Amino acid sequence: MELTGHHLIGDTTGAVGQETFQAQDPCSQAVLSPAFHEATVSEVGMALRLGQECFDTFRATTAEDRAAFLEAIADEVMALGDALLERAHQETGLPMARLTGERGRAVNQAKLFAGLIREGSWIDARIDLALPDRQPLPKPDIRRMLAPIGPVVVFGASNFPLAISVVGTDTIAALGAGCPVVVKGHPGHPGVCEMLGSAIQNAVKKCDLPPGVFSLLQGAGHELGVTLVQHPITQAVAFTGSLRGGRALFDVANARKEPIPFYAEMGSINPVFVLPGAAAERGASIAEQFVQSVGLGVGQFCTNPGMLIGLKSEFLDDLTQKTADAAEAAGPATMLHQGIAEAYSEGLNKIKSIEGVKTCGASSVASDATKNQAACHIFEANLNTLFDHPELKEENFGPSSVILKADSAEQLEQAAEGLEGQLTATVHGTEDDLQKHGKLIRILERKVGRLIFNGFPTGIEVCPSMHHGGPYPATTHSFFTSIGTASILRFVRPLCYQSFPDTGLPVELRNKNERGILRLVDNAWTRDDI
Ligand code: NAP
Repeated sequence: MELTGHHLIGDTTGAVGQETFQAQDPCSQAVLSPAFHEATVSEVGMALRLGQECFDTFRATTAEDRAAFLEAIADEVMALGDALLERAHQETGLPMARLTGERGRAVNQAKLFAGLIREGSWIDARIDLALPDRQPLPKPDIRRMLAPIGPVVVFGASNFPLAISVVGTDTIAALGAGCPVVVKGHPGHPGVCEMLGSAIQNAVKKCDLPPGVFSLLQGAGHELGVTLVQHPITQAVAFTGSLRGGRALFDVANARKEPIPFYAEMGSINPVFVLPGAAAERGASIAEQFVQSVGLGVGQFCTNPGMLIGLKSEFLDDLTQKTADAAEAAGPATMLHQGIAEAYSEGLNKIKSIEGVKTCGASSVASDATKNQAACHIFEANLNTLFDHPELKEENFGPSSVILKADSAEQLEQAAEGLEGQLTATVHGTEDDLQKHGKLIRILERKVGRLIFNGFPTGIEVCPSMHHGGPYPATTHSFFTSIGTASILRFVRPLCYQSFPDTGLPVELRNKNERGILRLVDNAWTRDDI
């Protein structure tokens, strides 16, 4: 398709603002056409008003209608063909193989949600039948289920242009729930945003849905994001990106006259603890896989392991040496854009300037700044350095990590206790290690959203049991996940009907269980009719 540089507002393509920005190829620094328009305040209003106007119609669609819509989106994304992958490669520098895999994830995710919506039990129907003769007071008939909250604004991150962007979990989950969506396109990949947005526009048309269910606004400045969050029609925001951006917009959401839920998924340091039994048993393979995980996607993952902590021993020294060797063998690669490459380089300098930190391994091939390349760096230090320099706990977005050596099990626990909220923590150990370090595990359970045993945090399975979240500052709301089907719960709220006649209830709460969903009726789970 030919890119226009315009916004997609409902079923229209256009732009009123004169200000524009352009994407850049991070590998060659070439400026890419076309110029994309900055959305104006009036365009924000138009998109959100369309969403609000169609909300009642959209939420009244059947589950089958919305499931078919999500499947149509998946089909339309595939119909964009290789042109989508090629533009994504141009705008992000990510390799074609990685982008092909990411498109598969985005499409399968839409289909997974279609299955969830079609099956229907996720709406958590609860029914307590009336007891008119109860003494001393009769009990009324009470029924509740989850209902969509209204127009949702979505911000995607730069590092997943296909799976955490316009067609990411946030958009798919919100649409599946029955919420209209306005996406703020990521300025790092506006062409990809337009292509994916047009795929959703086509799906809206094919499924005969009101055009206002989806809009895409483009912009390269913070003002657009702030305006979207402040707008009174916006009922919730899903954000994936940096702590700085997430926190700034979270504060905007809370400063509104009517504060709204702001679900931000942000960065994390994702510590890896290597317990003595594992270091002795398989230190070499842990080292190799650790460096692979650090370097995956040029370290541009929120689950990138930024820290490895173990007890001082010759096994940990050996693991450190093998890690350094693997880092030296890893070649530099292009980051997503110049800003990220510069921030990574500044982050490396900051780590190097900390007294007690030494570089133990770095890519032997120098990185080429003209191609926004980053080289893998592994640092080492005594764990005491972490206690003296908490800045070591800050995410350095890119392929670097620090190995920290502890004097005792108590120090490991102290390090875990000092962690801020994390998306993940990983423990390498034997079953015997787990017994001996139970206290460490109990501490980590309080700190993270996902605990991994003998694996690595990168590579998130998209499934119903996944929890991709964690206590602040990993996210702004630790109850919710942004990956997997449970992420739909961010866009709904419980709605309770008391003493309504059967015909006045939503189909899911009526006596006849037409959809055959699982319901809690008088405190027992059943798919039966009442
Ligand atoms: P980012 O710079 O925070 O940008 C994300 C979006 O927020 C962009 O649309 C950006 O647009 C907007 N934005 C940023 N700061 C803003 C502000 N102060 N006011 C208004 N809008 C603002 O993040 P990124 O560089 O794209 O992504 C990398 C980060 O995302 C890393 O920290 C990574 O760990 C994190 N990440 C987290 C997850 C997760 O699931 N937890 C997944 C992927 C990535 P403008 O620049 O136009 O304002």
